[in-house]
This record gives sequence, structure tokens and C-alpha cells, in this order.
Amino acid sequence: MITPNIPRPNIFEYDFIVIGSGVAGLFTALHLADRGRVAVITKDALVESNTEYAQGGVAVALGEDDSPQDHAKDTVEAGAGLCNPEAVEVLTSEGPTAVEELMRLGMRFDREGGELLRGQEAAHGKRRILHASGDETGHEVERTLSRRASVHPSIDIHEYTLMTDLLSVEGRCVGCDALVLPDGERVRFVASVTILATGGLGQVYAVTTNPVVTTGDGMAAAWRAGCRLMDMEFIQFHPTALYHEGSPKFLISEAVRGEGAILRNAAGEHFMPRYHPLGDLAPRDVVARSVFSEMRRDGRDFVELDFSSIPLDGRDRDRSALSHRHSRAACRR
Ligand SMILES: Cc1cc2nc3c(=O)[nH]c(=O)nc-3n(C[C@H](O)[C@H](O)[C@H](O)COP(=O)(O)OP(=O)(O)OC[C@H]3O[C@@H](n4cnc5c(N)ncnc54)[C@H](O)[C@@H]3O)c2cc1C
Repeated sequence: MITPNIPRPNIFEYDFIVIGSGVAGLFTALHLADRGRVAVITKDALVESNTEYAQGGVAVALGEDDSPQDHAKDTVEAGAGLCNPEAVEVLTSEGPTAVEELMRLGMRFDREGGELLRGQEAAHGKRRILHASGDETGHEVERTLSRRASVHPSIDIHEYTLMTDLLSVEGRCVGCDALVLPDGERVRFVASVTILATGGLGQVYAVTTNPVVTTGDGMAAAWRAGCRLMDMEFIQFHPTALYHEGSPKFLISEAVRGEGAILRNAAGEHFMPRYHPLGDLAPRDVVARSVFSEMRRDGRDFVELDFSSIPLDGRDRDRSALSHRHSRAACRR
């Protein structure tokens, strides 16, 4: 019998394999590292992830005037009754502890006079959005976690290692196959526990603010391995990103509307109050659909975001400059 000349993959054995190095993967890896040896596999540089680009901040009930119950109520309302109550409970009740842990690990949230600064965002009844260096919250999360994971003696980081398929034996996941980039060397990771933290799939859309690594690989691999996928229709469209020919479509944070910016259509009309009692601070899906309706009605690919009502701080208080502070925005994944 002729054996095909295919090199056998190098095999790495660990207690845990974590696929993905965004906030989900790195936070999990740091927790697992007390219990055994962990491999973090990631297809690009360690920090390349959605997490790195997240801007607006982290919603968490930490203020004295706030509570996880209030946060849960706002979340369920924003979810139009479609939220999974258990997921809401975890998010809102465990959020404060997770944020405190991030701070213990070295995360620096913005403060004023020693107090955490809490911003306002759509659908939140209280100011509860923590941020870091203004709009670099995700970068600060990724910086904090990647530094910790890189030096942890029980964690090995495998950068530029693309998971191609999950391995299963008798219906149980026992690891994954991967390619080491750019040469494509085949490698195999074996462990009794494999965690998929490969993020979303924004890149399936023509226009997206997600980085190029966001291609739904984990979902596809899980599906091929026989898993059921659920709630696939829940894709978040962020209402505003910069619209300018030839420029990158970077996200314009909701915090801008939280501070008073308003959306206007081609006629200059402030249209959001027509769609929702919360106006520009309506839940994201409502704002995104309203922006889409206005664009379609006006036959334009954008609406305008007018932030002239937001006072400039410090040096530049020239009101004539304020009147030019308009930006074009369109709905982007
Ligand atoms: C522009 C922007 C702004 C945002 N702003 C906010 C905000 O203000 N507040 C907020 O809460 N959320 C925000 N988000 C959403 C937030 O970033 C994500 O929900 C969160 O970061 C997801 O984390 P994650 O770890 O699940 O996935 P990611 O951070 O995307 O990490 C996925 C990881 O998996 C790796 N990977 C993927 N496929 C493979 C493969 N086949 N093999 C190996 N590795 C693989 C990737 O390289 C990456 O390291 C924003 C997102 C964007 C894009």
C-alpha cells in the first residue's frame, strides 16, 4: 500500500485549549491557568480582535444610585422581551465583580477626583458606562489581559495559529487542528477541554467596523463538529459609523448621542423623536432601523450626526466652530 506523503502534524498536549484571544478567551485562560496548562491559540497577533477596537465602554451597575436589578430591567426593556433572562442575570449581577477583577489585573478606567467616570448610553436609565482613555476601552482591556496572559507560567500563547477544525471522538471534543501562518504548517492541539472564544462574524457583511479576523470560524467549526447553533438572527447593527468616501468606516460611539448629539435627515429634521420616546437614546436596534428608513426615504447612503450642542471643554469654545461639528453617519455592523 502506498502511503501519501503528507507530513504528520506536530501534536501539542494541554489541559485546556482556548481558541481566541479577545476578552472572552484571555479572561477564561487566566482563570483556567490556576487549574492546569493552557494553550491560547489565535490566528493573528495576540491583541488582534474585536475587543481591541471596542470603544464606548463597559455597562455595569457600580454607582451608589444604581443596582444590578435596575441594569437588568433596562437590559430586558432594550431587548424588547427577547432576552434570555439567565444571560441578563449573569451579565448584570456578575458585571461588578468582573469589572473589579479587571481593575485588580491593572485595567485603568477613567476617573475624576478618584471616582470612576460613568457615561450615559442609549437605553440605560442611569449613567453606568465605564470607559478608559475616552474611547480606547477595548484597547485597555486587551492590553491588560494580554500582558497578564503573556507572562503567566501556565499559559502558552500560539499566535498566527489558525484553528481549522475541532477534533471529536465519540461525540466529545478532544482538541483542534490548526495551521501555523504564514507557512501553513499543520499542528494539532489535544486537551480534555476546548473553549471556543472566536468572536463574531461581522466580516460576512459588505461593510463592517469589525476587524478582518471576525469571520465566524468558531461557529462554522462547531457546526461541522455537530453542535447546534442558536440565536443566529441576533446580529447587532451599530447605528453610527463615519461615512466618507475613501475613508475607513470607523464606529462613532453611542456615547456621542449620550452626551447630546442628535441625528438629522436630508431635510435637517431631528427625526428620532418620531420613532421612539427616548429619541436618539432609543435602543440600538430601533435607532439602526430608523436610520435605515430615513436613508431609504431620502435616497441617501447616510444621515447626519449633529453634535453642535455638546460644549467643547478647555481651549476651544468658539461657537462658530461648533456649528461645523456635524458628521455623516450610516448604519454599520
Ligand atoms: C468598533 C467596535 C466597537 C465596539 N464597542 C463596544 C463597546 O463600547 N462596548 C462593548 O461592550 N462592546 C463593544 N464592541 C463589541 C465587543 O468588542 C465584542 O463584543 C467583544 O470584544 C467580543 O469579545 P470576544 O472575546 O468574544 O471576541 P473577539 O474580541 O473578537 O476575539 C475573537 C478572537 O478569536 C480569534 N479567532 C477567530 N477565529 C479564529 C481561528 N479560526 N483560529 C484562531 N483564532 C481565531 C481572533 O483572532 C480573536 O483573537 C465593539 C466592537 C467593535 C468592532
